[in-house]
Amino acid sequence: MSKEKFNYFIKTEKNNWEVIIGLEVHAQVISNSKLFSGSSTKFGGQPNTQVSLVDSAFPGMLPVINKYCIEQAIKTGLGLNAKINLLSIFDRKNYFYADLPAGYQISQYKNPIVGEGSVTLDMPYGTKVVGIERLHLEQDAGKSIHDLSPDNTYVDLNRSGVALMEIVSKPDLRSPEEVNSYVKKLRTIMRYLGTCDGNMQEGSLRADVNVSVRKKGEKKLGTRCEIKNVNSIRFMEMAIESEANRQVEILESGKKIDQETRLFDTKKNETRSMRSKEEAHDYRYFPDPDLLPLEIEQSFVDNLKKNLPELPDQKKDRFIKDFKLSSYEANVLVSDNNISQYFEDVIKNSDIKLAKNWIIVELFAVLNKKNLDIKNSPVSSNNLAKLINSISSGEISGKIAKQVFELMVNTGDDPSKIIKEKGLKQQSDPNELEKIVKIVLDKNTDKVQQFKSGKEKLYGFFVGEIMKASSGKANPKLVNDILKKELKK
Ligand code: MN
Repeated sequence: MSKEKFNYFIKTEKNNWEVIIGLEVHAQVISNSKLFSGSSTKFGGQPNTQVSLVDSAFPGMLPVINKYCIEQAIKTGLGLNAKINLLSIFDRKNYFYADLPAGYQISQYKNPIVGEGSVTLDMPYGTKVVGIERLHLEQDAGKSIHDLSPDNTYVDLNRSGVALMEIVSKPDLRSPEEVNSYVKKLRTIMRYLGTCDGNMQEGSLRADVNVSVRKKGEKKLGTRCEIKNVNSIRFMEMAIESEANRQVEILESGKKIDQETRLFDTKKNETRSMRSKEEAHDYRYFPDPDLLPLEIEQSFVDNLKKNLPELPDQKKDRFIKDFKLSSYEANVLVSDNNISQYFEDVIKNSDIKLAKNWIIVELFAVLNKKNLDIKNSPVSSNNLAKLINSISSGEISGKIAKQVFELMVNTGDDPSKIIKEKGLKQQSDPNELEKIVKIVLDKNTDKVQQFKSGKEKLYGFFVGEIMKASSGKANPKLVNDILKKELKK
């Protein structure tokens, strides 16, 4: 969020308004095949090449539930500390649209597979628990393509029938920042679980954002508007801000909010009305007669629970306890499974304190600048561990290490090779260093006199000259020891 925008929220807060936000996140399940058919879910295929007769709703075709998608939904539910419902029901949600060939979406209405749960956020002002209302499974629709021809709309059914998890939060979020943190946390949890890749550019994660405002201290929720299908976190933040401010303006002028579905125009940075809000009964939900109620054994759930990977919150606690990291450091390192893995690989054979700083400060700066993922880091975990060991052993100084690191980034080379080839090894021979110290002091007899008569600031000057004379390679600790001794003479 830019500062300017953040201030605008402060302004509405000054007038004592509070923003209430709830999210319906649609997360695409990681699965090779669709929820009720065997066709591929691979992204980027030629239009209509991944469509079975079920997905295109040919008469008489019957859906068959994909057991793997059920497992994925349960795992996600467990990751959200949620209740798993052993009985759930698939319903038809009826509506007409060209990219929905059946005329209904198979979804779950009254009996979702996952019930109430929670997600914990780390905000600058402390932790915040956001309630999860439910998670249900449903099919994705196809895609209408309007921009290929001025006269025609085309339909691509590759997405039709792909499994989605709709994760509904309680209206517990209070600011764009909290929404940012919530979506990122959900994404991290699902990536750890391997249940959703969270790739927003490919549409694997998108959200309907419900926004309302009310005067602070008020118990009743205001009339909400739902902003449909927002596909980036940045856009969610912008949409919430502009929608909240729109509502405040309406209410402050004495008018009322109409409950409606709105779209966020990313170019104009405003929401606009799409349709008046439909009610659940408009969809004529009813249990899909082609599908039996879904009954799950408790042992099936228990087994999945037993095999769950370590989740971000658990990993964070372990990092703080075992590696003495701060909460901030632990948060940064567990935010991505690949980053935490990299960190753990590095500290297998090197100093933890140096490792965390090198990763969080130096490595992240490089990755950010080069727009790279940790998986494509030019510096392997093995090479970073070697570099850190060269510092710990005194082979190179921390300052020289930065030079070596830069060369590692550019070449991908092993640090020991770089240190050897460039002659960067730290000068740690006391006799050699003594010679250099003496030369520097002899050259500056006047300053030595001044130092001895009380101008102690000059100490730094001598160190600087000695480092320069050794091309930055002198072992700073030894230089200190020798210099102090020589100056006392
Ligand atoms: Mn939905």
